[in-house]
Amino acid sequence: MPLLQEMTWPRVEAALRRSDLVVVPIGSTEQHGPHLPLATDFLVAAHIAKRVGERLEAVVAPVLPFGYAPYHLDFAGTITLDEATLRAALLQLCRSLLRHGARHFLVVNGHGGNTASAESVALELAGQGALCAVSQWWELARELNPAWGHGDFSHAGVVETAVVLAICPEACDLAALRPTTLTPLSANIRSEYASRFRFGKGTVSVRVPMRRLSATGNLGEVDPALATSELGREILESIVDYLVAFGKEFATVPTGG
Ligand SMILES: [Zn+2]
Repeated sequence: MPLLQEMTWPRVEAALRRSDLVVVPIGSTEQHGPHLPLATDFLVAAHIAKRVGERLEAVVAPVLPFGYAPYHLDFAGTITLDEATLRAALLQLCRSLLRHGARHFLVVNGHGGNTASAESVALELAGQGALCAVSQWWELARELNPAWGHGDFSHAGVVETAVVLAICPEACDLAALRPTTLTPLSANIRSEYASRFRFGKGTVSVRVPMRRLSATGNLGEVDPALATSELGREILESIVDYLVAFGKEFATVPTGG
C-alpha cells in the first residue's frame, strides 16, 4: 500500500528503507470551466501519483489540495494560497519526509500556477542532500503526443476534460459546456496558450485574471466528441508509464548528501 496516509509508521519506516523515493502530488482547488470539478488539478495529480507509487513501490505523500491560483478567484469556489505559503507548505512537507529518510522526491504537479514554487523548493532541497524532480502532467502529455485532443492542452480544454472523465466522470457536467469566446488583450495581442500571447511573429507572457480572457473560465473549445474517457485513459497510461520509467532511473541518481 503506497499511500502514506493508509500506512502505519513502522510500515513507512520500512518502505523508506527499501526506497528513499517519495512521490509528492500537488494540485489546486480552482474553477475549471462550467464542466469540470474544482478538484480537477488535485484529483489528476493524486491519481497519477498513486499509480506511479504502486508500480515503483514507493511511498506516496498525501496530495496538497491547495495551490497558487489567484487568477481564478473571479469564479466561485476557487481557493488559493499565496505563493509564499504554498512554497513553505511544500518545502516543509518534503523536509519532514527528509527527516524520515526520503532523499528523492518526485513531484507530480497538477496546476501551472504551482510550478514556480515547486521549482524553488527543488532548488532548496538540492542544497540539503536531496534531489527533487518536478513534473507537469499536461506538459508531459504534450511532449508524449502533441496530437492528443487535437493539440488542446489548455486549462479545462480537451485533454484535461478527457483525463477527468477517465478518473471521475460523475463530477463532470458536459451538458453545461457553452461556446468559448476568448477576449483578446488588444487588436493584435491574442492569447495563444495559457499566458502566452501572440503578437506578430513572436509570443510574450502576460499574466491576467482568467475572467479577462474567458467568461466561462476554460480556454479551449471542448468538443465532447473529442474529449472522451477512452482518450483520458490512454493519456494517463502513457504518463504513468513515463513517470515510472523516469522514477526508476531517478532513484539511482546520487543525491550527494
Ligand atoms: Zn487544471
